[in-house]
Amino acid sequence: MSAGFPIVRRPTRPIQLGQLIVGDGAPVSVQSMTNTPTADMEGTLDQVRALASAGCEIVRVSVPDEDALRGFEALRKNVRLPLVADIHFDHKLAVGSLVAGADAVRINPGNIGASWKIREIVQAAKDKGASIRVGVNAGSLEKDILKAHGHPTPEALVHSALRSIQLLEDMNFFTIKISVKASDPLENVRAYRLLSEDVDYPLHLGVTEAGTVLSGSVRTAAALGLLLADGIGDTIRVSLSGDPLPEVHAGHELLRSLGLRSGARVVACPTCARAEIDVAGLAEEVEKRIRSIKAPLKIAIMGCPVNGPGEARESDVGIAGGKGTAVLFVRGKVKGKLKEEEAIDALIEEVEKLEREFERMA
Ligand code: SF4
Repeated sequence: MSAGFPIVRRPTRPIQLGQLIVGDGAPVSVQSMTNTPTADMEGTLDQVRALASAGCEIVRVSVPDEDALRGFEALRKNVRLPLVADIHFDHKLAVGSLVAGADAVRINPGNIGASWKIREIVQAAKDKGASIRVGVNAGSLEKDILKAHGHPTPEALVHSALRSIQLLEDMNFFTIKISVKASDPLENVRAYRLLSEDVDYPLHLGVTEAGTVLSGSVRTAAALGLLLADGIGDTIRVSLSGDPLPEVHAGHELLRSLGLRSGARVVACPTCARAEIDVAGLAEEVEKRIRSIKAPLKIAIMGCPVNGPGEARESDVGIAGGKGTAVLFVRGKVKGKLKEEEAIDALIEEVEKLEREFERMA
């Protein structure tokens, strides 16, 4: 938890996906989505494993047709991580995914059709103890709602979500989480704020079609930062075009920045003409190597002796550059002067010692 701005989480009902709790104050979980063809079970399994080792806690998989459903069935047998089947239009694929062991299905009830079809999904979810995510998206609102609001406004997104929730509640189904995604960050914020006044179901936050790694991460951080700081949000996805692994890294970084997740973070000087070591290269390398560290450590990579030693001393572990050298600091004390090429291994060794200390005390 950040000392400067403690976040008070909004109370929500819990739902369970496998061993993972979402809502009710459980840590905000990070999720992502595969982009391999689901019918290609081997390729999808490889991607799910990569996501899991990056720290992904829930994986969503599209199930657009029968071949994909067969792929999903095979995947389920090989994956312990909570799996969410993403379904549009065809209720039979939702039922099939639940029978195959999906921990949840993501549907947009507005495009599933007749209420008997929704009822079949609900029954399958009840039978399997699974949950349903009502996933409303600005790009696929019901026609009558779009007509009533003129545009896919935040109010229109919430209108659609509340209608779907009512439908599920009328079928005595309450293990629900909800998303109302727009591509505009501020519309997103307004939609989730409005929704959180009306419901106490856990909320899945995300900005849809956010963009590439840089623009998508910034856009998502802008929207989700505001919401999470208000205590809104129980699970997040940073939607980025391309490889899903950066989604997971960005999600963890966002939560750590807000004090919602423990872990090590790297601070690095912006560099200037005084820099005497490759700060950016070293910082990137350190970021890659500390992803699994759970201890709340601050690691400083500083370019020169001007501000370097001061910042490095204020950190748990740090290096400050000299001419082809780096001074290593641990908890404020100089540990030694190293060659630049030896600095990272020595720094990581100290980080791992502190991690072991943290684990012993946990
Ligand atoms: S620490 Fe040194 S190199 Fe880095 S920005 Fe400050 S003065 Fe420049």
